[in-house]
Amino acid sequence: MDTVLHKSLHFGAVNDDQLAYLRHSIRTIPDYPKPGIQFRDITTLLRDRRAFDITINALSDSWRDQKIDKVAGIEARGFILGGAVAHQLKCGFIPIRKRGKLPHETVRVAYSLEYGVDEMEMHKDAIEQGERVLLLDDLVATGGTATAAGQLLHSAGADVVSASFVIDLPELGGAARLRSAGIPVQALLTF
Ligand code: AMP
Repeated sequence: MDTVLHKSLHFGAVNDDQLAYLRHSIRTIPDYPKPGIQFRDITTLLRDRRAFDITINALSDSWRDQKIDKVAGIEARGFILGGAVAHQLKCGFIPIRKRGKLPHETVRVAYSLEYGVDEMEMHKDAIEQGERVLLLDDLVATGGTATAAGQLLHSAGADVVSASFVIDLPELGGAARLRSAGIPVQALLTF
């Protein structure tokens, strides 16, 4: 179901035409990766220079006049968005990765998936105490992934100023879950 734009959030520089353009740039694949899932494929947004530009500006704009020390991106689509936003905000980027991918000492957290659990890691020395960090991923569904990433950042002493997404699936409750973990949430679109 195509639902209303996320008006309640503060993306000052993005207008309704731009949000409509973004919405139409996202491809929906029914029943992927399994029956009943509507997969929101952002590769069609990323390959479209106008859609990519709107996205990165919108995700960056509300933070331009604030001190952000680092952007943390969740593997793998959060790397593409997070790297571009970090460059816009002139701050550093931290990758949050699946277990076993990072070469130096890490902090690790387990989180639940629909079936079973997975683990993600961040370098132990990625953040200094009290740094203001913006967390980025493409989409929040149940919020399990982003909440775990938030735990990693908090455990390293970060002040997580926001978890920001292109897409929120509000029926799955992820944004509410993040907020109740003390992490403000922004999303450009809801589906
Ligand atoms: P969750 O932990 O349930 O919030 O799931 C979020 C992660 O799974 C994100 O990294 C998304 O990229 C991916 N994801 C979950 N549901 C979808 C969906 N319907 N379409 C595209 N990606 C999804």
